[in-house]
Amino acid sequence: MIQVVPIPAFQDNYLWLIHNDRQATVVDPGDAAPVIDYLTQHGLELASILVTHHHGDHIGGLPVLTQKYPGIPVFGPAGEKIEQLTQRLKQGDRITLPHLGLSFEVLDIPGHTAGHIAYLGDGRLFCGDTLFAGGCGRVFEGTMPQMRASLAKLKSLPGETLVFCAHEYTLANLKFARAVEPDNPLLAEREVQDKASRAASRPTVPSRISLERDTNPFLRWDAPQVVAAAKKRLGHAGASPDEVFTAIREWKNSF
Ligand code: ZN
Ligand code: FE
Repeated sequence: MIQVVPIPAFQDNYLWLIHNDRQATVVDPGDAAPVIDYLTQHGLELASILVTHHHGDHIGGLPVLTQKYPGIPVFGPAGEKIEQLTQRLKQGDRITLPHLGLSFEVLDIPGHTAGHIAYLGDGRLFCGDTLFAGGCGRVFEGTMPQMRASLAKLKSLPGETLVFCAHEYTLANLKFARAVEPDNPLLAEREVQDKASRAASRPTVPSRISLERDTNPFLRWDAPQVVAAAKKRLGHAGASPDEVFTAIREWKNSF
């Protein structure tokens, strides 16, 4: 049976470990030590590594892990410079993890970084720092329209798709979302549930695409209250989806 567990690292990162009773794949190992601890405690062997983008909190563990588990495949974005990669991936590529009996489709989702990719398979999406529960990543290397197009791609996935993002930012994201869309009842309900999860020290992730569509302001450039909030900040009547997204993203940057 396949299990997917979050290994907490740093302040608020989750390193996702996909495993059966013998072997494991880790997604975005920003740090090696907590991964090795988990593998040791559970008698697991690392069989492969998946990386979504080049930021240190996602690849910092690669030198140690590839030394400890020499020869394992290290999958990552074709468009980014990451020394330890053995397989460079882009939109449309498919990878298989034979030890787990899983395969993933690769999606290009630039914006947070220029070459950011996501992995989609078996109803699970590993999307790094692009889509967060209730929010989205900062736009560092790409453009705002690029980021919106990447999020539109994720928004169009089946509603039941589980969203495994790389950070526990949910409560801060929902606080902002409520400022954007104070009258969204699904958002209010979500905030109550996620606050309860955090109070019990449980992760708020994985989330679901359907819940993100209903409550995440960065996927809701066509929702009336989000459009109205953006127009208020833009100070003009017309607001294209890119303008709405940009206004909301810039607002969040200084929230
Ligand atoms: Zn990042
Ligand atoms: Fe990150």
